[in-house]
Amino acid sequence: SVRVRFAPSPTGFVHIGSLRTALYNYLFAKKLGGEYILRVEDTDRTRYVDGAIEGMLNAMKWAGIEHDEGVCIDEEGKVFQKGEYGPYMQSERLDIYKKYVQKLLDEGHAYYCFCSKPRLEKLREIQRAEGKVPKYDGFCRGLAGVSKEETQKRIDAGESYVIRLKLPASREIEFDDMVRGKVSINTDDLDDQVLIKADGFPTYHFAVVVDDHLMKITHVIRGEEWISSTPKHVYLYEVLGWEAPTYVHLPNILNSEKKKLSKRQGDVAVEDFEKKGYLPEGLVNYVALVGWSPEDNKEIFSMEELIEAFSVDRVSRSGGVFDTNKLNWINQHYMKDAEDEMLANLAMPYIKESGVSNGEDMDVETLKKIMAIVKEGLHYAAEIPEKISLFFGDDVKLENDDAKEFLALEHMPALIGALEEKISGASEITPEFVKAMFKEIQKEHGIKGKNLFMGTRVILTGQMHGPEIPYVVEILGKERVLSRIAYVKN
Ligand code: GLU
Repeated sequence: SVRVRFAPSPTGFVHIGSLRTALYNYLFAKKLGGEYILRVEDTDRTRYVDGAIEGMLNAMKWAGIEHDEGVCIDEEGKVFQKGEYGPYMQSERLDIYKKYVQKLLDEGHAYYCFCSKPRLEKLREIQRAEGKVPKYDGFCRGLAGVSKEETQKRIDAGESYVIRLKLPASREIEFDDMVRGKVSINTDDLDDQVLIKADGFPTYHFAVVVDDHLMKITHVIRGEEWISSTPKHVYLYEVLGWEAPTYVHLPNILNSEKKKLSKRQGDVAVEDFEKKGYLPEGLVNYVALVGWSPEDNKEIFSMEELIEAFSVDRVSRSGGVFDTNKLNWINQHYMKDAEDEMLANLAMPYIKESGVSNGEDMDVETLKKIMAIVKEGLHYAAEIPEKISLFFGDDVKLENDDAKEFLALEHMPALIGALEEKISGASEITPEFVKAMFKEIQKEHGIKGKNLFMGTRVILTGQMHGPEIPYVVEILGKERVLSRIAYVKN
């Protein structure tokens, strides 16, 4: 059966592209009844960010992309691991990498390199000046196998070293990518890749090969930034005597200028979207469509439907443009279908933070009713305070000059008087009561149409447009309606 993995490095926030990579891995595994593994690639100690693993795992949990094996987080936020191929944290696998690099050293496929940083820098400088792509010149290659004792002496003396892969000269390395087709590169254009760094940690390139092999990964689905490294990986599989997995390189997610989407242009982190109050179903649904297209023109997909519809041959070769309007459109779909209670709970922190309500007039029951009538127009939860501010407060803020002009219309004093009279006499204010009241006012005062409906809206909310007025009146309630009428009168 297929085994795939998502292998994030804990270097900070979770980029929306990583969410998509995780999602495609998940969909691929679920569709084919395989396993989806999450491995933490934390061998670059200089880029390690505290808390990033937890943040990443929580983001995945939030999105509903749950793995079968690997590094997990429990309800209390404690990180643990599950599965038979662990540890799934690369920093806990150092002995394993040592063992395999020793094999490569013994067989002459790798060598110690003692070149100093200044020497390598100088080398790169010269190569750049000559217009060449910087590349290690193989200065220490001669040490491979030849002078073992000499090498050991230097190591024992505490000299700093790395271990490099010894690439053969002028060999064409090829692999088939499920998205990109045949990819081929000559070893003359490749560097003798560092496998073990001076700090004793493996590089990504070495660890990824060892781990994907030992974890029995069948398909490597990852971002296209890794495609140029893949030949090195393929060569490593060869010299280690292992079968390489099948590769699937995903196109980048681009911004509207067709550049790689980056933090500088605003929201790119899953956490940013979560904070804005997008629903996980909406974000996942949208992200699935950036770089993959279903056979029909369907756009709204539940996770189950995505699993059903997903296939790698419909992943596009070119980058997918991230379109916030489309994300909003899709998320709006999920907001409108969401349970009122869920939305009320989701809305609560946004409302508190915005200060539109003083807190006392914001019980969940009222909020549920408000959600029921405003949810249709919501793209994400951060829009809620502005959308519902009309329900709070005993005064009326006229939203603009149009509203002011409307309030000054000739029929308005009569309407204000009529509303006051009818509402004070009401025992219970329901939408039905309001509708009946409008009929009576029309009959008794001759006020109708826009004058009546928009007029009432302006009096009670200060706005020209908004949710259906009978429901607004019901939610405001008798007391608040009367306070607002009194306020407008003065
Ligand atoms: N740790 C790599 C990253 O953060 C994973 C690349 C891969 O999937 O091989 O992108």
